[in-house]
Amino acid sequence: MMSAAQMEHMNSLLDAEMVYEPDELLRACRFFLYDQIKVLESAVEIVDGPYVSERNVSKIRCIRSRSSSRSFWIVPGSRGAEYTCTSCGCTCQNFLELSKSAGVNVEVMCKHLIAIRLATALDGVINETLKDEDWVNELSSRILPSFQGMENKPCSFPSDRAPHFQPY
Ligand SMILES: [Zn+2]
Repeated sequence: MMSAAQMEHMNSLLDAEMVYEPDELLRACRFFLYDQIKVLESAVEIVDGPYVSERNVSKIRCIRSRSSSRSFWIVPGSRGAEYTCTSCGCTCQNFLELSKSAGVNVEVMCKHLIAIRLATALDGVINETLKDEDWVNELSSRILPSFQGMENKPCSFPSDRAPHFQPY
């Protein structure tokens, strides 16, 4: 679980205009995530590339849609798995569990969500651009399978509360 201040700091790292030095970034993140050092360290392991060699060597891919500013990220996991992150969600099991245990309106971050922020702040993601339609298809094909097997909650209005539109 993250406080509003922690979320604000971590989200500011997604601002691609700001590029940090690794030491400076880690100092700031250790300060803000003082109670979450373990998950921060796991995230650093995912982004390890920029710390040991030139830029753009983390294996995190940022997929942008061409005419909108939307992005999602593909993060390598252990044992060849790949996780897909949007700015506030991830397809990993840990994110699902964190979200379930957090209260309503409480935001959570798994190591992948932290990793995309670290990598972005280090200018260490691989950027790819897709046509809008391809971007939507790619994101859906990556996110939908992770919902399989989850409890299927129908999304509809109860009949007595359905919106009632009056013609003029
Ligand atoms: Zn995750």
